[in-house]
Amino acid sequence: MTEPLDTAPPAVTLRHVTKAFAETRAVDDIDLDLGQGEFFALLGPSGCGKTTTLRMVGGFELPTEGRILLGGQDVTMLPPYKRDVNTVFQSYALFPHMTVADNVAFGLRRKGVASADITRRSERMLDLVGLAGFAKRRPHQLSGGQQQRVALARALVNEPKVLLLDEPMGALDAKIRKSMQIELKKIQQEVGITFLYVTHDQNEAMSMADRLAVMNGGRIEDIGAPQRVYDRPVTQFVAEFLGSCNILPVQYDAAGVLHLPDGSPVLVATDDDYHAITASDARVGLRPEKLVVTRGDNVDGGVNSIRGVVRTATYLGASTDYEIETSWGGVLKAFAQNLADEHRAQPGERVTVTWSAGHGFILPSVAESSGEAAPVT
Ligand code: ATP
Repeated sequence: MTEPLDTAPPAVTLRHVTKAFAETRAVDDIDLDLGQGEFFALLGPSGCGKTTTLRMVGGFELPTEGRILLGGQDVTMLPPYKRDVNTVFQSYALFPHMTVADNVAFGLRRKGVASADITRRSERMLDLVGLAGFAKRRPHQLSGGQQQRVALARALVNEPKVLLLDEPMGALDAKIRKSMQIELKKIQQEVGITFLYVTHDQNEAMSMADRLAVMNGGRIEDIGAPQRVYDRPVTQFVAEFLGSCNILPVQYDAAGVLHLPDGSPVLVATDDDYHAITASDARVGLRPEKLVVTRGDNVDGGVNSIRGVVRTATYLGASTDYEIETSWGGVLKAFAQNLADEHRAQPGERVTVTWSAGHGFILPSVAESSGEAAPVT
């Protein structure tokens, strides 16, 4: 009898996992559950603890505290080779003297798989990563992107339950990275293996992951689907780490209405719990690409409307990026797309900035967000 999918244990579970190196708490009490077949990205700035987390799942580091489970089985103290996990490193770590085919077949040979099976599985993997005609080459005869695919094929051919990827595209140039992102996502969907992908590149995480976690100082600050985390980040750090964000100081009046420093009212989305934050010094986050910039300051914007003067207008082809000085001293960033020439404001010009309520999100005050526990989703 097959079990319903939702009763399957998570592919990876971390419970209260901490890793301390002398004085440094590289990872500080994190909880995580990765679903079977999920593409999960760990995202954050350099030094936030991403690699250490991944290394603990792989068994290359032991947690100082906490437990790690794979498919419901406690593997906290198991060495790497006893875990059904493979790792792809940024450096690829290919064997230089071996052909591509031998590199891919290496793990299967070590396991003593029958040679006809090795050939069939290796060929299938090379086909999957688009390197069918490269089996006889050696790594130095391949581009960086091709080497990266060999490393991927070599890990996937073992059919691990979980694949760990540590900045696997770090050595590739921007264009190849983009096309690899699309391919990697397709490959992951085809093989159905759980991916735990570490990166500091938010575009990479956003474009591939089913869910992502943003880490900061060893802790998880936010976790969820990329669109939710981008559109409704729970802290200022997350808002600013994932793309650009305007942070506006706001105050609640006695009636519970939000106001900007110039007294004008602000409405934000209330389709979630953010409206429950009622500290007097909350802030509203606004993504620059969600703002509409209209020439002139005589527009009756009413709610969600700010008047200002263009400080800079940078034409970037696909968008015009503005910095706009507001009457109360703050500077707003606005990225306007598809602007006809007659709508493009010039430096020194008066403008009105507006946005729809669904595009503003409330952020807790600094005091509220410090030491904040990661939300459970
Ligand atoms: P990056 O993106 O730069 O690789 P990261 O988010 O992966 O960074 P980690 O490599 O996990 O971060 O490091 C987290 C913290 O732990 C850093 O302060 C780092 O200096 C420290 N650290 C990591 N490994 C060790 C170690 N073996 N000994 C001592 N400190 C370490």
